[in-house]
Amino acid sequence: MADESRGPTVELLELGARRAKLEIVGLTTSQVNAVRRTLIADLPKLAIEDVEFHLGPIRDEATGKDYDSSTSMFDEAVALRLGLLPLPMDTGTFRRRDECSCGGTGCPHCQVIYSIDRKGPCTVYAKDVVPLGDASLAPLEPEIPIVRLGARQALLAYATAVVGTAREHSKWQVAHAVGFSPRARVKFQKKPGCSDACLKRVADAAPGSLLQFANGKLTVTNEDDGALLLPCAALCEHGSLKVELDERDFFLRFETDGSLSPREAFRYALKDLRRRWEELREAVQAIP
Ligand SMILES: [Zn+2]
Repeated sequence: MADESRGPTVELLELGARRAKLEIVGLTTSQVNAVRRTLIADLPKLAIEDVEFHLGPIRDEATGKDYDSSTSMFDEAVALRLGLLPLPMDTGTFRRRDECSCGGTGCPHCQVIYSIDRKGPCTVYAKDVVPLGDASLAPLEPEIPIVRLGARQALLAYATAVVGTAREHSKWQVAHAVGFSPRARVKFQKKPGCSDACLKRVADAAPGSLLQFANGKLTVTNEDDGALLLPCAALCEHGSLKVELDERDFFLRFETDGSLSPREAFRYALKDLRRRWEELREAVQAIP
């Protein structure tokens, strides 16, 4: 149990390019859940919002050949697929259009323009979505297929990416698979009346190979996931396996789509939470 007078502590247990696992001690379930919800819904990122398709025939200047400006999909479907491409985000450079100093007309701080110019037969990939200007803003996953073009088909379009959050549309969702679970203390003591068959049943019901049964004993293979054993511990009515949850000690896991690193995502979430509480505090202070 955490010492509440000392405030919460955080330990980084895993940090990859796109995933993280932290242990947070000293917060309540509601507080950790607020962080989880902020990670899911309130992180900013760039995503393609407007697509301008060239209409009418497209001429290849080199060969003089004419192409139809059509694809195997409706333009709306192509635009949707472009919107879902993960794009790199720099929270220091980019801001929402409605919060930008340009007044929302569009400038290098609130939008990125991409061009697409492909002639069939071919498949158009994310790598064909080319940023005008800064090449570091190219889509993060170059091999995502977008649409196939037939022999006489071509795609010529300009796409504009703007900053948004997942509250508006899931294409602006940075963090995925965000979940947390309390630390659990798992105790095994074979009680009178309990049998090997009973214990084996408990082990078999555990997710993955979290519980191992050998020599009449149950052992937990990963202590951090102990909370997952809560339902299967109930299978032994003799009470040989006890799972106690610590309501002040949590494991928080999440992944990002690469637009922000896990570290940036977590920092931004905490900053955003603080901003919202600050706004609430100011609103309360303004009450005469
Ligand atoms: Zn702007």
